[in-house]
Amino acid sequence: MKSVTVGLCCLLSLGGCAAPSSQDISITFALKSGDHPVSCSQPVAGLGKSATLTDARLYIHDVVLLDDAGHATPIALTPSPWQRNAIVLLDFEDASGTCRGTTATNNAVVGTVPAGRYVGLGFVVGVPSSLNHTSPNAEAAPLDLVAMGWSWQAGRKFIKIELDPEGGVVRAAGKPGATWNLHVGSTGCVGDPFKGEAVSCATPNRVSVRFPAFSADADQVVLDIAAIFDGTDIGRDGGGALGCMSGPDDPDCLAIFRQLGLKPASNSNPPPAFRVVPKG
Ligand code: CA
Repeated sequence: MKSVTVGLCCLLSLGGCAAPSSQDISITFALKSGDHPVSCSQPVAGLGKSATLTDARLYIHDVVLLDDAGHATPIALTPSPWQRNAIVLLDFEDASGTCRGTTATNNAVVGTVPAGRYVGLGFVVGVPSSLNHTSPNAEAAPLDLVAMGWSWQAGRKFIKIELDPEGGVVRAAGKPGATWNLHVGSTGCVGDPFKGEAVSCATPNRVSVRFPAFSADADQVVLDIAAIFDGTDIGRDGGGALGCMSGPDDPDCLAIFRQLGLKPASNSNPPPAFRVVPKG
């Protein structure tokens, strides 16, 4: 099936089609665990122990197509409740079964690009600094979600994945918890945006993902939960917040940040958590 359609062709020409000036584009994303589909209705496979999903959402921005010289062309997003100001919310949970979020879901980036030959894809995980430190109550969708807000750093959760492992999460100190929380966001932030102060963060925790070979027609981008948690026992917490909430000293963030391409910096791009697979 051909998903790229040609815009503006023939509108002005009586003698034949002019060269198309723009083309529609749709980039498909999927949440998997290894090769297994992930849903709110059955345990997540491939994590080393049984666990159920309770939340799985992330923001991305600056989605671009790459030509064979590596030059980036931004996708002009079609405004919708899922995407605005170059920001897209991907939402893989539907509030059914064990999930606790919203019923609607979104697995696509939709927009237009100038007509051309594109061979690759790029995007940045997170919300741009200029739009990150705002109140969800004052913003339009997709930045209006209190559940994706992050009051302790006056920003957003860039990635939110929450899992309930069977038997709970044993803590290094204190009572066991029910949920292993992965919240990725900027930390070390100073400045109070609600007093009109500029905010700067010592650790932005935004990751740029690049796929030099990607076809919007044939391929999809997979966010792989098993890869994110490779090297992590979700039945245990080593200290700090329950799971990894991006705390600089949280031992549970080390392996996960490596898999996401965050500090300690990984030389691989795309990072292990993201890969391209054929649609279907
Ligand atoms: Ca922790």
